[in-house]
Amino acid sequence: MTLRRCIAFGPTAAGILAAAAVLAPAWPGAVAGAAAALPDVLSQVSGRRAYEHVLALSQRIGPHVAGTPEDRTSGEYIARRLTDDGYVVEWQEFQFPFFAVRAVALTVPASPSVALHPHAMLYSPSTADGGITAELADAGIGRPEDIRGAPLAGKIALIQRGSILFREKAKNAADAGAVAVLIYNSTPGDLFGVVSRDTGIPVVALSGAEGLQLLDLAHSGPVRVHLNVQTETGQRATWNIIGTKPGTRDPHRVLVVGAHRDTVEGAPGANDNTSGVATALEVAEVLRRAPLALTVRFTFFGAEESGLYGSDYYVQHMGPDPVVGMVNLDMEGVGDRLELAWDRGSDALVRSAARIADRLGIPVTMQRSPGSDHQSFERAGVPVVFLFRPDDPYYDTPKDTVDRVEPRLLEVSARLATAIVLEVAGARR
Ligand SMILES: [Zn+2]
Repeated sequence: MTLRRCIAFGPTAAGILAAAAVLAPAWPGAVAGAAAALPDVLSQVSGRRAYEHVLALSQRIGPHVAGTPEDRTSGEYIARRLTDDGYVVEWQEFQFPFFAVRAVALTVPASPSVALHPHAMLYSPSTADGGITAELADAGIGRPEDIRGAPLAGKIALIQRGSILFREKAKNAADAGAVAVLIYNSTPGDLFGVVSRDTGIPVVALSGAEGLQLLDLAHSGPVRVHLNVQTETGQRATWNIIGTKPGTRDPHRVLVVGAHRDTVEGAPGANDNTSGVATALEVAEVLRRAPLALTVRFTFFGAEESGLYGSDYYVQHMGPDPVVGMVNLDMEGVGDRLELAWDRGSDALVRSAARIADRLGIPVTMQRSPGSDHQSFERAGVPVVFLFRPDDPYYDTPKDTVDRVEPRLLEVSARLATAIVLEVAGARR
C-alpha cells in the first residue's frame, strides 16, 4: 500500500465530523427512518457466525487461487449461503490471465554454500526444463545506458531495483541478448513483482541482501549461476458471485458491497480475504429481510490477487443502472486498527461512513489506500469506502491462518458495513 495520509478521529476530529455533517448532508439517497432500523438489525450482527465462514473457506477448502478447482468450490459455498438467505444469485463468468509457479531455484555451482531464495515475478516465462546455467553479468539498474556498458549476450543479467519498471529492465536486458534476469531489491528485504506477459525471458526477484552477495561474486571474477524457473501461464475462467437484493422503491439505483474471494498461491487466506467474504456474508445475512429502497448487490470478486480482474470485469459490464456507491471489504480479521479508505475519487462515502462509525462508537481512521477492488469502481467514478485493517504482517503468506482471525473484529466490521448499507440504500418501514 502506498500514499498514506491519515486523519485520526480524536476530539478535534469530532469537530471536523460535525462540520462535515453540516457541510456534506447525509448520504444522498438515504431514506428517512434509516436510523430507526439500525438497532434491531445491528444487534443481530454476529462475529461468531461470520467466523464459521472463515473456517469453511480457509480451513476446510484451504488456499483457493483463481482458476483452480478450489476457486469453484469456494464459489459454490458462497452461492449456497446467499441462496439460503433468499438472494438471487448470479455466476458472472470471465477469463483472466492465470499464472502459477511450479518451481524456482537459483544456485551458484562453484559456491554451494550460497543459499538464495528467488521469487518468480508474476507472468515470468519458464527456463528450459531442468533450468539453465550461464555467466552472471552486473547490469546496474537496467537502463539503456547501464546495459550498453555490459556485454549481456548469453548471460544472466543482475539488475538492481529502481528508477524504471521491472518489465522495462527485463526488456532492455532481453534486447541485449540476456537469457534471464535477476532483479534484487534496493533495500535488504525481500522483493516481489510483476513483469508483462511478453517479456520473453525468465525474471526472478531477490532480496537486496542476496542480490548484493551475488554482485560481490560477479565483481570478484567470472561466476556462473544455475537458474530453474517453471511457471504456468494461460487464460482461465473464473467468476464473480453476485447475490442481489432488489430495491423496493428505487430498484434501478445500485449499491455494491464487495469482497474478493481468491487467495494467493500457498496462502490459506484466512484474513486475505476470507475475513472480508465472511463479513459481507454476515451483512447479507442480517439484511436478508430488511426492506431497502435501493438495490444492493453483494459481489464476491474473482481474480483480485492476479490484478483486480473480477472487479474490473464487473465495472465493464455494470449495465445502465447507476451504481451510487461501493463498500469494499478486504482484510477485516486481524489488528484493532480499522481504516476507511479511498484512493483517487470522491471521499463523500468515506466521510459518511466515518460519521456512522462515530455514531456507533467505532474508532476509525480515514486513509487514501489503493490496492484492492474499490479502485476498479473509482476508475468508473463510483464513490467508494474501503474497510481495511492494515496491521497484518502475514497476509499473502502461508501464515495467514484461521487462528489469527478474531470474530470480535469481524463483528465490528460487519456492524459498520451494515449501518453504511442502511444509510445509503435506505430502510423503509
Ligand atoms: Zn485482499
